Amino acid sequence: VFEHLPLVPDPLVYAAMAAFSKDPSPLKLNLGVGVYRSEDGKPFVLNVVRRAEQLLVSNLSADKDYLPITGIPEFNKLSAKLIFGADSTAIKENRVTTVQCLSGSGSLRIGAEFLAKFYSQQVVYIPQPTYANHPNFFLPVGLAVKTYRYYDPTTNGLDYQGLLEDLCSMPSGAIVLFQACGHNPTGVDPTIEQWEQIIQMVRSRKLLPFIDSAYQGLVSGNLEIDAQSVRLFVADGAECLVAQSYSKVMGLYGERIGALSIVCKTAEVASKVESQLKLVIRPMYSNPPIHGASIVTAILKDRDMYNQWNSELKSMTDRLIRLRQQLFDALCDRGTPGEWSYITKQVGMYTLLGLNPDQVAFLNREYHIYMSSDGRINMAGLNSSRVAYLVDAIHAAITS
Ligand code: PMP
Repeated sequence: VFEHLPLVPDPLVYAAMAAFSKDPSPLKLNLGVGVYRSEDGKPFVLNVVRRAEQLLVSNLSADKDYLPITGIPEFNKLSAKLIFGADSTAIKENRVTTVQCLSGSGSLRIGAEFLAKFYSQQVVYIPQPTYANHPNFFLPVGLAVKTYRYYDPTTNGLDYQGLLEDLCSMPSGAIVLFQACGHNPTGVDPTIEQWEQIIQMVRSRKLLPFIDSAYQGLVSGNLEIDAQSVRLFVADGAECLVAQSYSKVMGLYGERIGALSIVCKTAEVASKVESQLKLVIRPMYSNPPIHGASIVTAILKDRDMYNQWNSELKSMTDRLIRLRQQLFDALCDRGTPGEWSYITKQVGMYTLLGLNPDQVAFLNREYHIYMSSDGRINMAGLNSSRVAYLVDAIHAAITS
């Protein structure tokens, strides 16, 4: 009965991962996949995660029963506190409902399902460019996806004017997706002053923000600072949706752990929203898995482990910043044509190198370097010993 199905290629990032692992070259370098790597290029498990897992293993009274549809209540509380702040008025007023989801992707998808079912507007605006999977969370539920200007390739920075103009011309009530910090794939975030203006525009157009937070702590190395944009969005009592992911920030990729929060006008609305979210989740996967949520809960509730997590995040971020500087210095020393200072201005895990698809293909063909076709590199995939090799390759791609 399925003969009519066309064979479709794997999503690009998975195809690149497969090509990388098949490549026999000892020189190969994977800057494509969005995971944090240690300085020796290995998968990186945080010490605090290992510590939390030890603790979980020793808890013999823990059972494997189903979780509630909305996950571990303590996990939800602590996740909301992490993103909205310990002194959040919205939390104190019980206006926030938070549900455990299958990482950032699951949180975005549940949010999309909820909006398609219950929200009056059917259009979502996403940044141009954005995380490649973003449209796919909204299209299958029947929401239309449009883009707003975000990145200016001529400055390798924010197209701030374009962004404000596009917000201004959106239909009143439209849903707008923002990335809280460490924008994927550009590494370009608005400043706090720009966020304030953006939020004013969101208010005046009565837009509904859906904020994707996948990199809290991996931009400044500080969890509070990286949550500032989200906190500004909720500071004046406004409504919004927030998707949180623990994939990158705790290195829990395969545990699929995240949370969706919906900030409502009143506590009464929040409980109605939560009751409806249960009906959205129930037919999709009934209830979420235990392990990842237990790790996160253990870390967030214990001051000592929380502090250890903070300092590990800080070292991860410091390494990303150091690599940016090394790449910039090496490109300048090599005299590679181009204005590279944006590499150190951009933040978080990613940088858009500004290479065209032919140059990206050249790097892959001649140097076994893997990156997304848009020229995005994951700084964490690099390490000090490979900077010179990458610079040789970029130099050759640009000058040949
Ligand atoms: N949002 C953004 C901006 C991302 O970059 C990613 C992953 N690369 C996600 C969401 C989803 O990741 P996950 O489902 O692993 O949390």
